[in-house]
Formats: sequence, structure tokens, C-alpha cells
Amino acid sequence: MLGGTGEARRLAAELPGRVISSLAGRVTDPRLPEGEVRVGGFGGVDGLVEWLRANGITAVVDATHPFAARITANAVEATARVGIPLLVLRRPGWTPEPGDDWRWVDSLEEAAADLPGDRVFLTTGRQDIGVFAGCGQYFLARSVEPPEPPLPRRVHVLLDRGPFTVDGEVELMRAHGIDVLVTKDSGGAQTAAKLVAARLLGVPVVVVRRPPAPAAETVDSVAAAAEWVRRGSGGA
Ligand code: NAP
Repeated sequence: MLGGTGEARRLAAELPGRVISSLAGRVTDPRLPEGEVRVGGFGGVDGLVEWLRANGITAVVDATHPFAARITANAVEATARVGIPLLVLRRPGWTPEPGDDWRWVDSLEEAAADLPGDRVFLTTGRQDIGVFAGCGQYFLARSVEPPEPPLPRRVHVLLDRGPFTVDGEVELMRAHGIDVLVTKDSGGAQTAAKLVAARLLGVPVVVVRRPPAPAAETVDSVAAAAEWVRRGSGGA
């Protein structure tokens, strides 16, 4: 199984048979799934093909973040080459509710080019902060690990990892005078607390659309992924 998302951890705990979870190694103190875990890149598609063969893998579940497009594309190609089934587990995207003021964009670059505010709560992850380096606005940038330069000139980095509460997000956004929230459409079973907080505060949200869906069988719940493995599609 690829990925260390919450869904990946829940699925690893449910699956019968031998499960190896693979993490990219971006987080120094990751929440580990149950069972066997390996950490680090495979070395592109060729490396992944080799690793799948060497470990006798009979099926792959890609439970990575919806914006981790590279590893997903690699999984599509590598499983086709090895001739084993692939399932993509993608949590559903978020949908706006009455009272939300969401502005959809296709990329982080598009978000950076036209921010509808001066004090930005940036929650797109440390790997993407550089996209906003040329912006003059104030940024409250939250990430799990410290971001590396280039950073925006006026930035307050907040190192924190969820889950977050609506009350906590409201307090944080008020304390920093936030007037725009920037987020990826990471999605999930529930609307994220930051989105509810933005609604309550009347703050507009710039939502970055997901990369195109992969050409692979896809489910949106842990239960459906577990069922896929159990019924043997996953080779178990
Ligand atoms: P990415 O751009 O799709 O992948 C870049 C490279 O990182 C891959 O080519 C692969 O290296 C390695 N990699 C990624 N996921 C891996 C995994 N599960 N196991 C082993 N190697 C992996 O990925 P990313 O956006 O950097 O995300 C990396 C990890 O962070 C993923 O597991 C993802 O779920 C998580 N994450 C990403 C985001 C986001 O917004 N992108 C947000 C939250 C969490 P090789 O080519 O050498 O195999």
C-alpha cells in the first residue's frame, strides 16, 4: 500500500494477509500504519517495478494524498508492467455549503497570482510555499515540517499537525487577522475545520482543484478498498 494518510492507516489495520505500507519519508515523525512499513522513494517507475517483483507483491492500493500525482502515475505504470491489479483510494473532494465563498483555481500558481486578500492562511503544505515567495501579502503558513526557502517576505510559519477543531481554527484566523484561506481540495469524509471556520468568519477560500484522476479503478472509502482486497481483486 502506498501512502501514510489516515485512510491508508485505517485500511492497513483492516486488511487480511501480508500488507507492506510505503511512506515517502517526508515527515520525520510519521504516524505509522500497523504492520510492515518501508520508507523512501523507489527510484521512479523502474525502481517500483523492481521492488514489486522482489517482494512478490500481488496487488497495490494507492492511498496517497490526491495531490501526490507523481507516485500515483508511477503506480499506474509499474503495476501494468508487472501485471498486478491496482486500486486507487481517493477520499471524496470537498463541496461548498451555503455561506461558503469558494474560488476554484487550477493550480497553486493561479492562486498566488490573484489572492483576494492581504492576510493569507496558507495550508497547502510546506513543499508548495515557494510558489507564494513573490507575493507581498502576509502569510500564516501552516505545515507539519519546517518549509525551506524561498518563502514569502512576510511569513509566520506555524508547525502543527491536525486534527484541528473549528473553535481552534476560528481563534487562529482571528488572531492573525486572516482575510483569505488557501487550501488544496484534499477532501475527506468531513468538511475540514478550517473551511467551517472560514464560513463562520465570512473569509473567502481559494480552493486548488485536484490533478486529473488516474486511469485506474478508484474507490472513495476505506470500506470499499478493504472489500476489493477481500474479494480477491487485490490478489489476497
Ligand atoms: P509525489 O510528487 O507524487 O511523488 C514524488 C516522489 O516521491 C515519487 O516519485 C516517489 O519517489 C516518492 N514517493 C511519493 N510517495 C511515496 C510513497 N508512498 N512511498 C514511496 N515513495 C513515495 O508525492 P508528494 O506530493 O511529494 O507526496 C509525498 C507523500 O506525502 C505521499 O505519500 C503523499 O500521500 C503525502 N502527502 C502529499 C501531499 C501533497 O499535497 N502532495 C499532502 C499530504 C501528504 P520515487 O520516484 O523515487 O519512487
